[in-house]
Amino acid sequence: MNTPPSSSSPAALSAQEARQHLLAAVAPVTGREVLPLREALGRILAAPIVAPHDVPAHDNSAMDGYALRADSLAGEGETRLQVVGTAWAGRAFSGLVGTGQAVRIMTGAVLPAGADTVVVQEVARQEGDTVIVPAGQKPGANTRLAGEDLARGQVALAAGKRIGAAELGLIGSLGIAEVTVRRRLKVAFFSTGDELASIGQPLAPGQIYDSNRYTLFGLLTQLGAEIIDLGVVRDRPQDLEAALGEAAAAADVVLTSGGVSVGEADFVREILARLGQVHFWKLDIKPGRPMAFGRIGKAWLFGLPGNPVAVMVSYTQFALDALLRLAGVDPLPERPLLKAVCREAIKKQPGRREFLRGRVGAAADGGWQVRPFALQGSGVLRSMSEANCFIVLPEEAASVAAGDPVDVQLFEGLL
Ligand code: AMP
Ligand code: MG
Repeated sequence: MNTPPSSSSPAALSAQEARQHLLAAVAPVTGREVLPLREALGRILAAPIVAPHDVPAHDNSAMDGYALRADSLAGEGETRLQVVGTAWAGRAFSGLVGTGQAVRIMTGAVLPAGADTVVVQEVARQEGDTVIVPAGQKPGANTRLAGEDLARGQVALAAGKRIGAAELGLIGSLGIAEVTVRRRLKVAFFSTGDELASIGQPLAPGQIYDSNRYTLFGLLTQLGAEIIDLGVVRDRPQDLEAALGEAAAAADVVLTSGGVSVGEADFVREILARLGQVHFWKLDIKPGRPMAFGRIGKAWLFGLPGNPVAVMVSYTQFALDALLRLAGVDPLPERPLLKAVCREAIKKQPGRREFLRGRVGAAADGGWQVRPFALQGSGVLRSMSEANCFIVLPEEAASVAAGDPVDVQLFEGLL
């Protein structure tokens, strides 16, 4: 493992430094498996998909109309052509289109020999066996050339690509029935805290229901990981040690929530120091300041904070891309920031990066506007549900006035 900026004692780290450290540390899992196409949805290609033939396989028509030779067209005025047959999608016209001739053609039908241009039916007029075509037709118009989508031998999809709906269709268009994908990443996770009750149990005084485990279940399931849910672990050294040992033996990655903030971390740190090499970070961000990262045995450990919103911020900003890299995704997805006009003032001191929950939408002037959610507490999970973006205020930023532009990171579709 790389030497991180800090070892056992907490030291402030920027979001950028933490990300770089995580991404430099992890490398993809090596196992692979061959799956029938449909089962590969959401999985990561372990080998490139190479086109075994041209797509489309033949020159064909992009429109319903008349196939003809461009050199039959009169330079000026109408051209009259003799209709010599019909070409259907899946049923080609087997003859040759000569000068002065045309073939009625449907979208997707193979372009008949001799023809190089399609005139759309809306502009042509058929009278008996004659079609009349107005002036101004472009040679080659309305045709799709063999191999224009993919040429035979071309890499259609590179290794590292995540297979979504478009990729399933693309692989299907090549007639490929099985694909080689990375094995799924195994992620074990648990919640820590004496105050946590699991759903289905009554709440004792002072208890709260464990929500992080459900959030993480959702995030990891969407990621396509194989998940191992180890439940709630009490703040007792022997329980925590047992859970960490079990998790690390069973999984590639262990995700925990809670127990890494300064007040709580002492016995956690002592156990983690004994079981592996784990670094406790104090990040210059809000929410999600405390985080632990390191190794226990062969597993990577991400110790996420306890507050429900902080869990989602740490996951999306740090853990997610590291997990994608471990799963074999390459290149990592871009996460573009959008500029939006902030409709309300936000108080902020320079020095840390803040992730506020907001709703971004169209502004009257055609740009984007964003409204921060009223309650920005790191325990207010409703803010994540009602928001569709993080308003990202960089380290150097001070307070924002209503009407100022801010950066926005969309998370619809990501979470
Ligand atoms: P901690 O970092 O363990 O001190 O937790 C910080 C805050 O997050 C405390 O208010 C906890 O009650 C809350 N919290 C910790 N774990 C969970 C959880 N699994 N579900 C909901 N809230 C939690
Ligand atoms: Mg706790």
